[in-house]
Amino acid sequence: MKLFQAKRGGAVAGFETGTGVVMRAAPILKLAAVPLADAVTDLQSRGWLIQRVVPYSGQVVPWNQEGGAVHVRHEPFDVYIGRKGHGYDHRPEAGMFGNPVTRNTPCTVCGEEHTRRGSTLDCYEVWVKAAVQRDELFQQAVTSLHGLRLGCFCGAHKACHGHILHDLATELAAPAEDDDVLDSVLGVLAKVSIAT
Ligand SMILES: [Zn+2]
Ligand SMILES: [Zn+2]
Repeated sequence: MKLFQAKRGGAVAGFETGTGVVMRAAPILKLAAVPLADAVTDLQSRGWLIQRVVPYSGQVVPWNQEGGAVHVRHEPFDVYIGRKGHGYDHRPEAGMFGNPVTRNTPCTVCGEEHTRRGSTLDCYEVWVKAAVQRDELFQQAVTSLHGLRLGCFCGAHKACHGHILHDLATELAAPAEDDDVLDSVLGVLAKVSIAT
């Protein structure tokens, strides 16, 4: 899945990332894996314009746009994160990022019944953090939300599971800080070089 693209003159090249690491960037990068931030800095210093490619829709947005939860009807959004059955089911990501903890029904996380608006969010946070641990594909999907505008029905200034998703995506997309993890990543890193 192409998540980023670099443009220079008439040339366009796509590249993808796992958890903050560029995995494949042929033909402009001759390497297996580098940290995303390093690849972007290097490409920019060589005159490449970096853009984000929105997963699911393929829409192209600025690399450095401000991501976060926005209202689906009032602001432009990149990925729909609400539940299915609310008018956005035509989108391929529909339901994938919805909050599975619903109100007025026994919660699968805490066993209680949540009634107040926003009261499911603590349990959602517990659920989503466990979900990215046990499901690698879901973890990649959440990571890909980093820097994107997440459309929900709450809006940027209200309690929304989108804020939790956005923070988690940012955390997952950041290069590993733990030395042991970093060492194992560095084992497969190569210096960025540009083929053209
Ligand atoms: Zn709960
Ligand atoms: Zn919301």
